[in-house]
Parts: sequence; C-alpha cells; structure tokens
Amino acid sequence: MLTITTLKQILADPKRIAITTHHKPDGDALGSSLAVYLWLKNKGHEVHLIVPSDYPSFLHWMPHQDEVMIYTEQQVQADILIQHAQLLFCLDFNGLARTYDMQQTLAASTATKIMIDHHLDPEGFDDFRHWNPEAAASAYLVYDFIVNQMDDRASITPEIATCLYTGIMTDTGSFRFQSTTAEIHLVVADLIALGAKNAEIHDAVYNNSSENRLKFLGFCLLNRLVVLPEYHTAYFAISKEDLTQFQVITGDTEGLVNYALSISGIRLAALIIDRTYQVKLSLRSTGDFPANEICNLYFNGGGHRNAAGGHSEQRLEEVVEKFKLILPLYKERLTANEITDLSK
Ligand code: 5GP
Ligand code: MN
Repeated sequence: MLTITTLKQILADPKRIAITTHHKPDGDALGSSLAVYLWLKNKGHEVHLIVPSDYPSFLHWMPHQDEVMIYTEQQVQADILIQHAQLLFCLDFNGLARTYDMQQTLAASTATKIMIDHHLDPEGFDDFRHWNPEAAASAYLVYDFIVNQMDDRASITPEIATCLYTGIMTDTGSFRFQSTTAEIHLVVADLIALGAKNAEIHDAVYNNSSENRLKFLGFCLLNRLVVLPEYHTAYFAISKEDLTQFQVITGDTEGLVNYALSISGIRLAALIIDRTYQVKLSLRSTGDFPANEICNLYFNGGGHRNAAGGHSEQRLEEVVEKFKLILPLYKERLTANEITDLSK
C-alpha cells in the first residue's frame, strides 16, 4: 500500500491519469468522478474520465459532463487510454466486476490504483485507498481526501464543489438517511461556501423528469405495486414490455423503490426489473434490517444495509417467486417492533 506522502510526491509532477467508476453511474459516482477529474486537470495532469455505461439524464447538466467518455461507445480508444495511464482513480466502487465490460482492461492495467469508496468488503485491487463503509457518500470521502489528506482545500473551485454537493445530496436522499451525520452537514456547508449553488442543484436533479417518466411512475404505483403486509414488505415487478411502453430510459426508474418504502409500516421494499440481459433488483430497508444480506446471499449482489442491489439470470416471474420465498426466513426480523423514541 502506498502512503499519502508517496502519493503526494507522485502527483507533484504531471501524470497520465484515468478515472473510472461503477456501471450506470449515479449522482455520487459521477459527482465524485467529475470532482477528481477537475481537481487533477486543474493541476496540469492529462486526465480522462471513462465511465462504463451511460448515466441518468437528470445528471446531464453536470459541469464538464460532455468530456466524459462512455466505455460502451468508445471502447477501443478507452482501452488504449487505460493501458497508457500511470495512475487509475477508482471511485465509488471496490470490486472490478462493478465496472462490467471494463473489468478485464482494468485488471490488466499496471497503473497505480487509487480507490476512494464507501462500500463494504473491498476486493483489494488498489494500491492506495481512502475507504470508509460508514461514510454517507464517496463524494464526502473525495472532499476529505482533497482537503485533509492532500491539504488542498484552496483548489476546490465552485464546479468541484457542485460535483461533490451533488454526490452527497443524492447518496443521502437529500440529507435524510441515517448516514447524514453532523460532519456531513459541516462539509455540505463548506461546499456551499465554496460555491455550490444548493437550490439550483436540487432543482436540476429532482425537477428534471420527462412526461413519460411521470406517467410511468403513475402506472407503476397503480398497476405494479404489490404489498405484503404480513412481511412488512412491498415490491414492484417491472417487465420488458412496461419499459418499452413508457420508453423508459436510464435513470427513469431511480427513486421508484422509495415509494414502496414510503408506505407506513413497510420495512423492506424491492424493485425488480427485467433489463433483458438480466433481471436487476434494488432493495431498500429501514432500521437495522439487512437488505444487503438478501442481495448477497440470494442475488449475486450486495451493498449497504439499507440500500442494496443484485441481479439474476432467471426470468422475472422466477425472480419474484424466489424473492417471496425468502421472506418467511426473515419474518421475525421484518415484523419485530422497532419503536424509535425521537425524544432521546
Ligand atoms: P441500486 O439499487 O441503486 O442499484 O443500488 C443500491 C446500492 O446497492 C448501490 O449503492 C450498491 O452499493 C449496491 N449494489 C447495487 N447493485 C449491486 C450489485 O450488483 N452488486 C453489488 N455488490 N452491489 C450492488
Ligand atoms: Mn455512493
């Protein structure tokens, strides 16, 4: 493992650097990546940001996103850039499989790998890590890396602050989740002081839906929501035909699972979607119910305790059946009384 002192020395001279993140980047993945990209570029390095796939349209406003290379669209060129990179920044993921099609090229790379991430169980491909599974967002760790490890708060421009704010905002559900500590609020306050326009960022991310997306949401709430009160569970199962009918594009299903969780008394919510090449699951839970354990044990995935994901090669109907068969195993934990005393 590299020390921070050595990393500082390496970064003291211009280097060829590639930055990447996980498949279907979310606000934290893209925000962290763009922030590191701009920080390194402003320091005179030759930097390329290569993301494994496209990302939601509600992130298309982000600064410099037109400079982002999408691997599936420019694979040959991206492979060459990764092969030639001296440093590789891996942001918001810790297992190469999370980069899907890019994983072979990344595994073959001899570059020094710097991982900044907040997911459990790092695989160990990295040479330097700034990792904390309790951190609310990777963007928070990027802030901490630049400010406290690199002693470089002065280099955080309003654009960088905007990217980091977006990452923290999206991964904390707009500062709602349990992970939103006092420290997170202090960092977010500093990002606003550094030039992030908070109200405009909220507007750009959350008031950016297409008419189709809203109609799709209405359709799902009315026709696809299944509530299982005996298990304090609710889920949506979305077919290929549903996605086609509403011309659903990347990002349109983001947040849908939270509607199932918003029903009073629901402790576990699932969104099960037939993505043609595989069935994708998104699980959300409240309190100490481990959504990641279900994804890990039964659906080739993982994640955080309250937000996890996985996938299956089985048909949609089979995945739904499997999900329902798992619930009795967790009945006690799903139905146990968990009363929070807000006065304490
Ligand atoms: P989402 O439901 O938004 O796709 O993912 C929620 C969280 O679950 C992500 O932040 C990530 O930590 C985790 N996750 C989603 N899909 C996978 C997967 O296929 N494998 C693993 N290990 N984690 C996943
Ligand atoms: Mn994240």
